[in-house]
Amino acid sequence: MALMIINGQPVAAASGETMEVRNPATNQVVDTVPKASAEDTRKAIEAAAAAFPKWSSMPAHERASILLKTAAHVRDHLKEVAELLTAEQGKPIRDSHIEADRFAAGIEQYAGLVAGGHLKGEQMSLPQYKAMGLVVRRPMGVTGAIIPWNFPLTLFANKMAPALAVGNTVVAKPASTTPLATLKLAELMYEAGLPEGVLNVVTGPGAVVGEELIRHPLVRKIGFTGETVTGQRVMASAAPEIKRVTLELGGSDPAIVCDDADVELAAKSIAIGRFFNCGQACLAVKRVYVQEPVAEEFIEKITSRAQRLKVGPGSDPQSQMGPMHTEGGRAGIEAQLKDAVDRGGKVLAGGKRPTGDGFDKGWFFEPTVITDVPADARVWKEETFGPLLPIMVVKDFEEALQRANESEYGLGSSIFTRDFGKAQRAIDEIQAGYTWVNSIQVAYDELPFGGWKHSGYGKEHGTDVLDYYTEEKSVILAGV
Ligand code: NDP
Repeated sequence: MALMIINGQPVAAASGETMEVRNPATNQVVDTVPKASAEDTRKAIEAAAAAFPKWSSMPAHERASILLKTAAHVRDHLKEVAELLTAEQGKPIRDSHIEADRFAAGIEQYAGLVAGGHLKGEQMSLPQYKAMGLVVRRPMGVTGAIIPWNFPLTLFANKMAPALAVGNTVVAKPASTTPLATLKLAELMYEAGLPEGVLNVVTGPGAVVGEELIRHPLVRKIGFTGETVTGQRVMASAAPEIKRVTLELGGSDPAIVCDDADVELAAKSIAIGRFFNCGQACLAVKRVYVQEPVAEEFIEKITSRAQRLKVGPGSDPQSQMGPMHTEGGRAGIEAQLKDAVDRGGKVLAGGKRPTGDGFDKGWFFEPTVITDVPADARVWKEETFGPLLPIMVVKDFEEALQRANESEYGLGSSIFTRDFGKAQRAIDEIQAGYTWVNSIQVAYDELPFGGWKHSGYGKEHGTDVLDYYTEEKSVILAGV
């Protein structure tokens, strides 16, 4: 059994209860973890609170130096971490390596920023009041990180690294289906010299552990990534304590392929953007609007790419797309596909579970492309969290822009065009936290990332995230 980490120590649940973690490719048990209660969670919060005064008062460069050592130690164990991630999450082993590496890079980014004195305030001379004004930023205290299963390591780093770098302490709650690599990372960080209690990882159900983190008065901020409906609950539960929240929620990102696009580039980028991580990414391309003159060529190219993708268990280095993460997730995609087909949608690629050796136990689904789906189908309105790509042929650019905004979500968006005027209109008019122009949809560590509308509140990545993990204070220095 893998144990939780509270106050730097491996700990079981006080009740002795455990939860199984299963491999999505085989449905076999990988390991078990403690099923923590609210009381177990409180112990972790208290440990984090006890560690806060020393950690927050340490000079920034000393904190950064410790964090850089933890990142280096993680880099020495990438293979082990990646294998755990593939076993519990399902993604191809190459992608798990990249994710484990990005985890270390996230720590380095924020350690580097604070070591370089980035946490600056402002100053202003106020001679009319015979005073000097300052604006300073201070750490908050204990912060909670609630993490989903699709990118368990990078989404952990996005919250934990800036929080620790600026002097907060952290209690993290991984998704119940992907706690193993997270626990391993916390263990590695302690081996590298993280002080006791600075980072705690509690495993258990969201409604128990997550809820306790959100409601506990000692926790001053919650960084949450997950579904919009859970995010709404997090925001409501955080209200009584006026708790700070960052909410990275669902998305239904549109991609517009214009009549002057580089169609090859569009097909390649959108295929990667949709089928990466078996379509289970918040910023995946989930709706395509293509202009009529290039529609046939684009559809032919993307269909062929979907058909060529090699589906298989993540542990096979040849696999380009692993299984879906859960049986329920696959059932959800199948229901959305059925709705589209019942309304007249045409399946051009995939549309079913692969058969044959190695596919009988896991939650595999073929990369799927559909066209001729009417605008009232579920795929245009809901988040499709799996390898299902609906394509709509539109009469002109105006229709594409209008349809791109026909969503409650506003996470990302992309446009493929050679006309800067069209790109500029997409940048100005699409209601989303990101617009990629002629590019694969990937989040850059350097730029703030976060959704509009029902896709979230607050930012991760970039330097903006430091503002979300500190409180601002105005200071007046007056003469006597
Ligand atoms: P969930 O909302 O189901 O779960 C996310 C986390 O919240 C898990 O750790 C879960 O725990 C926990 N949780 C569940 N219920 C509660 C509760 N009542 N109180 C507190 N915590 C709770 O999301 P998924 O794991 O299914 O993740 C997929 C979703 O995440 C998609 O919608 C995707 O778009 C979104 N996402 C958004 C990103 C962004 O940056 N905008 C990035 C990546 C994903 P448990 O596992 O125990 O249920």
